[in-house]
Amino acid sequence: MLLKKIKFLVSVCVIFGVLSWGAFYSNTIWPEKQSPGIFQVIAQDGTDAVMLEDAQKTADLFNQVLQEDMNITLNRDIKVFICSTKEQYASVLQKEFHMKEKNIDREAQVTGGMANADLRVVALNGSSNNMRLSQNRVATLGHEMFHQVQAQLSHDKGDKALHWLTEGTADFIGARMAEKSGYLPMSQFPVERINALRTTSDPIDPGEVFHADDDEWLKLMEKDESSYHIADLMVYYLLTAVPDNQKYELIAAYFKEVGQMGNGEKAFEKVFKRKTDAFLTDFEVWLSQQQSKPATLQIVRQDGISIAYYDDVQNSVMLARQFLKNQWGGDLYASQKIILTNEAGYQMALQRELGLSPAEAAERGGKSLYYNYGHTVVLNMTSLSHKEQRVFVPAMILISYFQEQTASQEQLSKLTWFSNGSIYVTAAYTVESAGLANLNMYKKTWFRLLAQTDARPSLMKLETDDGWKSAVKTYGEGTVDEVAELAACYLIDKYGLASIHTWTKQVQSTGDAEKAFAEVYGMTPTEFDVVFESYLAKHL
Ligand SMILES: [Zn+2]
Repeated sequence: MLLKKIKFLVSVCVIFGVLSWGAFYSNTIWPEKQSPGIFQVIAQDGTDAVMLEDAQKTADLFNQVLQEDMNITLNRDIKVFICSTKEQYASVLQKEFHMKEKNIDREAQVTGGMANADLRVVALNGSSNNMRLSQNRVATLGHEMFHQVQAQLSHDKGDKALHWLTEGTADFIGARMAEKSGYLPMSQFPVERINALRTTSDPIDPGEVFHADDDEWLKLMEKDESSYHIADLMVYYLLTAVPDNQKYELIAAYFKEVGQMGNGEKAFEKVFKRKTDAFLTDFEVWLSQQQSKPATLQIVRQDGISIAYYDDVQNSVMLARQFLKNQWGGDLYASQKIILTNEAGYQMALQRELGLSPAEAAERGGKSLYYNYGHTVVLNMTSLSHKEQRVFVPAMILISYFQEQTASQEQLSKLTWFSNGSIYVTAAYTVESAGLANLNMYKKTWFRLLAQTDARPSLMKLETDDGWKSAVKTYGEGTVDEVAELAACYLIDKYGLASIHTWTKQVQSTGDAEKAFAEVYGMTPTEFDVVFESYLAKHL
């Protein structure tokens, strides 16, 4: 079972009224129209049809959301560039955004989208990792388009607004666009962000985010995504007491007020009727309460899933957590949502819960047992017809989350056979503790299956993620899994279960999976490969 995941990367950015000649352009060259503006979607060569459709739909929906939720109209004509490669995106940034040559490479690398309010352009970097999901494309476009609205409402004094409100409200509207497009509901807006902050090793002080000017914001942004997460949560918290049907109008009122007063902090106090210092103090208390709560594991049973299946998954989750606590002295930091669905509901759940487009859901749903994104996992229970599988798979997913909260996926994947193999074996322990099988049975089965194959990869070939994938193509998934499982079993039998967690912690502290392996097991992975080959030769 290949662990299928996409790294959760939020990378959105804006150039917003920071260009010194912006004031010259605004209102003089571009007279304000009274009729709704037009979004002209311009696709670069090779743009995926699904991505283009998402962009067109988002553009159409955007004006509707403004009118219905905010009672305003965007009167400006905006060009929306959809780029499918990093090179195209870089070229758009140069030609259409007039970006300085020295900034282009870096911006093309780290941003998923961009807006320039003075030039009335928006771009989407379709090559960025997180733009692989339809939901994120909608949210990012919504975010960038909303920067254009902020500019209009504030009469191009957007640079006077509190920066976190500029970014946080753009994310809020982006999420609203995703919700309106049939993806995650707004109630999920804070969850992933709190989760992300709970797993950040080096948190940013909310006060820094609150007071950041343009330059300071750029520095925060370069560090990681925490500044966006905190800004988003400040917006969420600011609007919690406001009835849903007034939240969006209040956001619009803020940017109008910035245009009137030319001062983001004063506009904040007037519109939200809060003193900035008092708000920040209250927010900090709230955030620390949210972060100190134990992680919750929510299991959602969709139509057609029996109580018995639900109970198996619940049992698995409980046993996996017990395993983590008893064997490794740890727990999951982030709250998780596990959605149980059947074959018939699987694709729909992938769309709604994980943000895949219908075409993507059809493609990916066809060949997977489960799919996860962020901290939500959708399980296709039809494919888990044995009780044992219904305990094994959820446990495996949770244990892999635990591994990744200890060390990064990128570091762990430098020794893929061990990181995957150890997760499979520990999941098998969970099945054993459920009284459904014992590890010896598993081991015997893995040996038997491996003995039946003509060829198998060496551990060396399974060191990297790419190596693993290519071995799966050559030898088949089962054989590759069995090699990794037996290797992990050998190490656990000899050095104990705790050694896996020691390794993970060493990976985190040294940043080097191979070095960590040598430190824990007293031999390099290459040396172990020799030991393991002779062990297999003896037992197969
Ligand atoms: Zn932005």
